[in-house]
This record gives sequence, structure tokens and C-alpha cells, in this order.
Amino acid sequence: MLFSELCSYWEKIEATSSRLEMAKLFAELLSKLKREEVRPVIYLSEGLLLPSHHGLELGLGIKLMFDAISFSTGYPIKKIEQLFKQKGDIGLVAQELFTKKLQASLFEKKLEIAEVYSILKSLAELSGKGSQEAKLKQLSELLNSSSPSEAKYLARFCVGTMRLGIGEPTIIDSLASIRIKKILSSLNGLEYNSQFYSFESSQALSALDSPTLELNIKSSTDLEFLEEKNVSLVFQEGKTALLKVSKIKQVEDGYIFVFEQFKKTIRYPIERAFNFSNDLGKVAEYTLFDYKKIEEFKIEVFSPLRPALAERLSNAQEIIEKIGPCAADAKYDGFRLQIHKEGKRVELYSRKLEKVSASFPEICKAVEGLALNSCIFEGEAVAYNPKEKKYYPFQMTIKRKRKYQIEKMQQELPLHLFVFDLLYADGIDYSNLAFEQRRKELQRLIKEKPPIFHSDLKLVSNAAELQNFFEKCIKNGLEGIIAKDLSSPYIAGAREFAWIKLKKSYGKLADSIDAVIVGYYLGKGQRAEFNFGGLLVAVKNSQTQKLETIAKLGSGFSEEEMKNLENILSKIKIDKKPPQLISNLIPDFWVEPKIVVSITADEISLSPIHTCNWKNNKGFALRFPRMLSIRTDKGIDEITTSQEIQRLYLLQFSSKPKQ
Ligand code: ATP
Repeated sequence: MLFSELCSYWEKIEATSSRLEMAKLFAELLSKLKREEVRPVIYLSEGLLLPSHHGLELGLGIKLMFDAISFSTGYPIKKIEQLFKQKGDIGLVAQELFTKKLQASLFEKKLEIAEVYSILKSLAELSGKGSQEAKLKQLSELLNSSSPSEAKYLARFCVGTMRLGIGEPTIIDSLASIRIKKILSSLNGLEYNSQFYSFESSQALSALDSPTLELNIKSSTDLEFLEEKNVSLVFQEGKTALLKVSKIKQVEDGYIFVFEQFKKTIRYPIERAFNFSNDLGKVAEYTLFDYKKIEEFKIEVFSPLRPALAERLSNAQEIIEKIGPCAADAKYDGFRLQIHKEGKRVELYSRKLEKVSASFPEICKAVEGLALNSCIFEGEAVAYNPKEKKYYPFQMTIKRKRKYQIEKMQQELPLHLFVFDLLYADGIDYSNLAFEQRRKELQRLIKEKPPIFHSDLKLVSNAAELQNFFEKCIKNGLEGIIAKDLSSPYIAGAREFAWIKLKKSYGKLADSIDAVIVGYYLGKGQRAEFNFGGLLVAVKNSQTQKLETIAKLGSGFSEEEMKNLENILSKIKIDKKPPQLISNLIPDFWVEPKIVVSITADEISLSPIHTCNWKNNKGFALRFPRMLSIRTDKGIDEITTSQEIQRLYLLQFSSKPKQ
């Protein structure tokens, strides 16, 4: 496919705000691709060169982009900077200037997707002396062959702001819809106890846009007895799929069979494969060209799983009512690591699934020494103060996530790794086993030897025991506990009740909130010496994918944090409100929504000021919000959702645990 055709799909996707419409357009685009084009198109649409765990970043600064645009269009840098200030979007700047180029290109050729992708990848691989000049040269050459629309997306991609508005769930929807189309076109009939009821594919009444499949079966005999029974759908290729008939409606010439949750059934294995690989390109390629690999999807070393996340409840009693006797696991406030080993190679992945191995050499060394050839397990790394025999808080531990002065920091802040889950070891996939078995195997296979320790875990059978263990953890300076359902498999990439966190109390809230900074205010009074007086922060509505404000944050900052924030935020200032944000407030400066902060508050209340979950002219707002930390380990996709805020709001009415 030509790159220009891809760009015209991106234009259409960007222009719609309907998720359904986006999924349709994306499915149409995917259906036109050759196999080798699928991964590049998925990655580029996500704004990536490869999934995050490969650690391959383009890292082109805005200044280099100004130079490249100037080089290709003939406009002076000053003019480009000015236009960028006005528009706040390098893509729109490039598009405008390429429409009225001052100089003609020496030669123009039509760009293919594969070619563009490989040039961008080779740009990312350039490093060392002279690499900036080489990058500028190659980028300018690429831009020379670009149309205004191509230049717009190239410019945005290179500086890391694609802004297509299409997220991973929508891409998975479009893959599911392609799969449904294929299934519908190959449907042959329905079978129950060797009895065959035939129909044609065209008699499938819905499914693509609705979550339900309805099949029209012409029959004069009574088929109502099939309601709530499992039947096999038979395909022309001789395959079958077992599905439950949810409802049967009688019509003039037969029956309509209703299969509820059909879309979810089809979507599930695709989503699962993504959660188990963090590689949407691979998953899309398999869904379109090698579906068997999706059905039999296996976890692989060095392809990290999207982490399992914990739900919240307010007290021990609620937890026992929800999951019964369970494992109470001490909750350490550190840095989550997913650890992969094969032979002598060890890689560590952060919660965002970035490769962070280089920052933690002592952990890599300890893992290398394990008596296993290959394994995947998870743990929380916490910085330890050996003199005082105390663990440092998260803000200190996070200082270890750095690219420079690693040895010095290793001396200052040595780490302990508390391992809590095992997913794979020497050819055996443990992820589908119950937690109870996984934990036994973890203790058997990953032996304790400093800096590796097992997390402190206790099996509890009632609320009183759970409460006791929680109180002990708080006394020991921990954050709380995570209660784990003994029978649950590892649920990658989802926040489920298989894990339930119970944290020490911050006011009425059952949990802290991770929000993204969307703007900031200038300092007044004592703070006037800084250019920083407070933050406007937002959470994400998971249904609309919009950002919605929840608090104006004016306290909880140390002087160092204020300086740090001022420094970071002044670099990502934009002139207009971020397009995906819904806000009633206008701060002194808007910023690109990138920086995540963890906050707490006395309570969540309803107010006409903030737009979180906006209904009847009111939204959720935080009362007396305070910043806890800057979460460099979290990206904008990991922030708290408006739907979670609603659940936290309701949890305020349950009683809190003693501490
Ligand atoms: P979340 O991960 O739920 O989005 P978060 O990153 O803000 O939220 P918390 O809510 O504080 O973190 O708790 C979940 C995190 O707790 C895990 O992601 C993991 O990093 C950490 N953790 C600490 N101890 C454990 C443990 N024993 N088992 C599982 N996770 C643990």
C-alpha cells in the first residue's frame, strides 16, 4: 500500500470521534494490507516503531524537526517556530508549509509504507557522533518526497504526537469485526446432538456492529427446546464452534436464534493474545493471516505480559465476602518489575513495559544466578537503607530508574526485590494455573537469596485474620495488602477482583488516584519565585476516551518537586486546550497530557467545576487534593478512569478498616 493511502485513512480516523466509526475505518484499512504491511501499519498508527518493550525510540526533538521542515520547504526556522507557537501542532505546521513550498523537490516519488517504516526505523537506530546530522539528512530526504498530508503525519510521528485518537481497544474491536465477517461468510449450519439445521450465511441477521449474533433458521418443526442449550456452529471449512443459544424468537417461517455476547466471544482470544504479548502488530498479523496462532497463543520469554491490576474494596469484610478465604500478600511501595530470563540473558520490564534492565544491574545479576534456564516472574523492587534497616518510600526508589550514574545510585540506594508471582519456567506456562499453585511453584523455583526475597504472604480464612495481617503490614511501614483469589489464573492486562488492594487510609478514599497534568497555574505570594502555582489534573473516561478534569492541585509539593515540575511543564506547554480534554476551567498554561501524578484527597464529592463523569451539570471532584508523587513509571494509558472514580465515590460509603 502507498503511504499516501495510509495517511488518507488516518485523516478520516482523526476526523471522527465515534469509536464504532473508527473501528470500521481501521478494519477497512487492515483488510487491504499485505501480510508484511500489517505490523508497520499497526505500530505507526500507535505512534510506535516497535512495541514499547523493544525500547526502540525515534527520539527526534522538535528542533531537529524544525530544521528538517526548513530544509525541505525553504522556509526559515523563525517562520516555522512562529507557526508552531500559533498552532501548537507540528503536523499542522508541516502540512501548511508543504502546501506552499518555496522550493520544488529535486525528485518526487510515491512512498510505500514498507519504505517509510524502514527509513524511520533506521533513523532510530542511528546513534553516536554525527548521528544528529545523519538523522536530519535522511529525514529531509524522506520529507522531500512527501505530500502535505504525508508530511503532517511524518512530522507528528517523529516528535511522538500522532494524536489519531484510536486506542488499543478500538484496534482490537476492528480485528474482531474482521474475524466476525469471516466467520459469518463461512457459516453453514447449526448442530445439536448430531441433528443438523441448515441455513445460509446471509441469514445471519446481525453481529458486526452489535454484540449479538442472530441467525434465521427456516423450519416447520419446533426448535424452541434448543433455548439455553449449547449448539455447534458449523463452518464451510469443516470447523465448529460451541456456543450457547441465549434466546429463541419464533417468526413466520421459522425461528431466530439469538447468541448474546457473540462479539465478546470472538474478541476475547484476540484481546487475550494482546494481553499476553503486548504486541498488537503481531496479534493483528496472526488474526488476519494465521488465526490458529491466536487460538493457541503462548507466552514467550522477552515478550512481556501486560500486568495484572488490582481492584479496590474498603475493608477486610468486603474482601472475604467477595473472594472467600484468600492469600493476603504484603503490598510494597516500590517499582514493579517483570523479569524475563533465558540462558544468560536477563531483561527487566517496568509496569509500562519499558525495558529497564540497564538501571538495575544487581537484580539482573541475581536473576542470572537462578538455577533455571528460562523463566518469567514478577516482583516489586524497593530501595533499602541498610544502616537504618528501613525501606525507603516510592519517591526514593524511583530515583533508581535512570540511564546515567547507575553505579553511584546502586551504592546509595541498594534494592531488595520482593517476588510475588510466577508466570513461566523452563517450558511450563504457569499463567493459567490457580494463584495457590503459582505461588507454591514460585517458592519452590525462585529461591530466596539477597537481594531476592519472597513477598510476605499469609493465607487467611476470615475477615479478622485478614484485618490482623493488614494491621501488621501497616505497622511494618508498608502500604497495605493485596488480597489474592486462590483459585484465579493470572489475569493479564485487566483490573479484576482476582487481586484486591486494601491500602492504609488517606481520608475517605480507598485508594490514591493517578491523574495526568493538563495545565498549570502561575505562582502567587510565596510561590511567586517559581513560575508554578498549582496543577490542573484529569482522569480518562474509558468509554469516550476523553480526559476529564477532577482537581486543581495546590498542595503536597516539596520545593524540589515544584522546581522539577516547573522545569518539565514549561517544556511541554501548548497554546490550546489538549483536543481530547473536556474542561470547564482555563489554567494559565495548557500542557501536553503526558505527566502522571499520584494524588490523594479527603474525599470525592460532586461539583459543577470539574467534568469527571459529567451528569446533570455536575462532575466528580477531589476535596482537599494533595500530591503524593510524580509517577514516571506510569503513562497516560495507565491513569485512573472516570468509571473507577465513580466506584471509589461509592466505596466512600462503606466503613474503612482500623489501622
Ligand atoms: P495499579 O497498579 O492498581 O494501577 P498503582 O500502580 O498506583 O495502581 P497500587 O494501586 O499502589 O499501584 O497497587 C498495585 C501495585 O502494587 C502493583 O502494580 C505492584 O507494583 C505493587 N505491589 C506491591 N506489592 C505487591 C504484591 N505483593 N503483589 C502484587 N503487586 C504488588
